[in-house]
Amino acid sequence: MIVVLRPNLPAEEVDKVVAEVAKMGYQPHPIRGAIQTVIAAIGDERVNPSLETLTAWPQVETVLRVQKRYKLVSKEGHPQPTVINVNGQQIGGGQPFCIMGGPCSVESEEQIMTTARAVKAAGATILRGGAFKPRTSPYEFQGLGETGLKLLAAARKEFGLAVITEVLAEKDVELVASYADILQIGARNAQNFALITAAAKTGKPILLKRGMSMRVEEWLLAAEYILSNGNPNVFLCERGIRTFETYTRNTLDLSAVAILKQETHLPVIIDPSQGCGRADLVIELCKAAAALNADGLLVEVHPNPAEAWSDGQQQVDFKAFAQLCRSLKPFIAAVGRPS
Ligand code: PEP
Ligand code: MN
Repeated sequence: MIVVLRPNLPAEEVDKVVAEVAKMGYQPHPIRGAIQTVIAAIGDERVNPSLETLTAWPQVETVLRVQKRYKLVSKEGHPQPTVINVNGQQIGGGQPFCIMGGPCSVESEEQIMTTARAVKAAGATILRGGAFKPRTSPYEFQGLGETGLKLLAAARKEFGLAVITEVLAEKDVELVASYADILQIGARNAQNFALITAAAKTGKPILLKRGMSMRVEEWLLAAEYILSNGNPNVFLCERGIRTFETYTRNTLDLSAVAILKQETHLPVIIDPSQGCGRADLVIELCKAAAALNADGLLVEVHPNPAEAWSDGQQQVDFKAFAQLCRSLKPFIAAVGRPS
């Protein structure tokens, strides 16, 4: 770290800060200028206590980090992309583009079975469906709970699709993990570190959504909780952030995909459904995701969106989903990835 001292400090005041830097586990190298001194503090910032507390000292003007705050998710120590094995299916790196599709909420046996059949026929390999739903209002449909999980498991058995579903609460982690192939941590829980840690410890792959107002660094640090708890299988899912724009429910941050490709080896999934909140825009955003070399999509699909129990406005029907999957092919090919 770099500690910048205030101008014209007496030498004994400089020495006090230098001594404190050493006490905190760093090797201090003061660089004394005519007016101002800076201290280069050599040491691992991720292991030693942060020198940022020194900003509270009257002698200190500012403290600058040199290293990134995340280690395990960073490309620096792990340049090869992570490839995640989901029931024998490889996702990430140069593996085929992965399409996850299914309803926002599991509603009934007929709904989930017909949807599973349709998304599989269109090219999806993973079935999504919420059994525990994080709803803004307590009066809205909260999900079928374990009944929904059982229906997802039945669809997996019938159609051979892997299943992704959200775990909302720490108390349900074991239950949801006993049915799901991938655990989804939703936007509202993206910094619920107790839940994230418990989910990590199941050893199941985790799809970590971006929080609504989360910076990329915060998101990567949330993922760092999973890796540092011994689970390397994390998908990062961009699902839109809150902005001032009102034409869309959220603003899908496609620049985050490009940033994540530079910063991390973890696979990146795009959720255009929560991302824009409008079925009429989903297909275009999916094409953009493929063109950006994202590793896959999480798309809401419903047999009859107009009658959906949640998020009807953003779910595509079977016909639109099949068209969406077809239209992706040239974009996937353009980045040199198999479909
Ligand atoms: C969802 O996938 O239906 C969902 C609630 O997602 P998010 O956590 O991104 O809002
Ligand atoms: Mn939804």
